[in-house]
Amino acid sequence: MEVNGPDVRKYLKKFIAEPKKRVRLKNYDAAWVPHEALKEGGEEDVKDLLKGLLEKDRRALAEAQELLAASRQYSILIVLQGMDTAGKDGTIRHVMSGVNPQGCEVHSFKVPGTEDHAHDFLWRYEKVLPERGMIGIFNRSYYEDVLVVHVHPDRMEELPEAIGPGAKGFWEGRYKDINALERHLVRNGTIVLKFFLFISKDEQKRRLLDRLSNKEKYWKFSVTDIAERQYWDEYMDAYEEMLAATSTAYAPWFIVPADHKWMARTFVAEAVTSAIEGLHLTYPEFSKDQLRHLKEAKETLERE
Ligand code: AMP
Ligand code: MG
Repeated sequence: MEVNGPDVRKYLKKFIAEPKKRVRLKNYDAAWVPHEALKEGGEEDVKDLLKGLLEKDRRALAEAQELLAASRQYSILIVLQGMDTAGKDGTIRHVMSGVNPQGCEVHSFKVPGTEDHAHDFLWRYEKVLPERGMIGIFNRSYYEDVLVVHVHPDRMEELPEAIGPGAKGFWEGRYKDINALERHLVRNGTIVLKFFLFISKDEQKRRLLDRLSNKEKYWKFSVTDIAERQYWDEYMDAYEEMLAATSTAYAPWFIVPADHKWMARTFVAEAVTSAIEGLHLTYPEFSKDQLRHLKEAKETLERE
């Protein structure tokens, strides 16, 4: 099915957090959809339109991923952040469903363990960065180390007082370390794509209630979700500070309107596909000698 829906790609830039500029999440509309699509019909039509686009993108992404794997020059790191219920898992499921599982690795980061805390905060993430040709997805990431632990410093690894969260410039230091890591990755052929799935507090309430009213969704609910919700404003402050400090020209943050799940998914699919396409990759070239070997191999098989 050919979809002539809204060109979401032209909006990607609009949602990039400008480097070094203060971010005010209050000015962002979590329920945003492309307005020309709204003109064409009601919300259900927009949903169908965007779902169609997502379908198209899924195919484009599968092709782009194959080229990425074949050329083995670059890797893609997708970082997904967002409050509980923001749709990180669903986005991964829907966006990546067409991609060859061998070319893609998902890492979901939970509360760090003793071994993680015995190392520097970047250790557990660096261990599993994607190799060339691969797409790596971080479902939560080292950004938790300036988000959840910024809101709850008691959940952090123990550090000597002189260099711990009470020390002057501690958080700025972490932002700098993150920027340095990403700068290093980009310089070495990793494309870093960061998505903050931005939902409103009202939408989170709806989604939590949905989880609590639906037997098949009970498993998604965690009592800590309610406790963390009480810190909503503190989280938004931490997000604003983090976004301003770590959105860079080489690894910008996309602030994705995510109250509509199909909007967020289509947005991420478009951004990832266009980033890979922007690399203008080609299948590996073969030398005359290599081509001769292939021809000989073919002839050997045919003679069997
Ligand atoms: P979920 O994504 O719903 O499975 O929840 C994972 C939980 O792990 C969340 O409550 C996160 O806040 C927590 N978490 C993830 N990374 C960290 C971290 N680096 N430090 C502390 N808590 C974390
Ligand atoms: Mg959860």
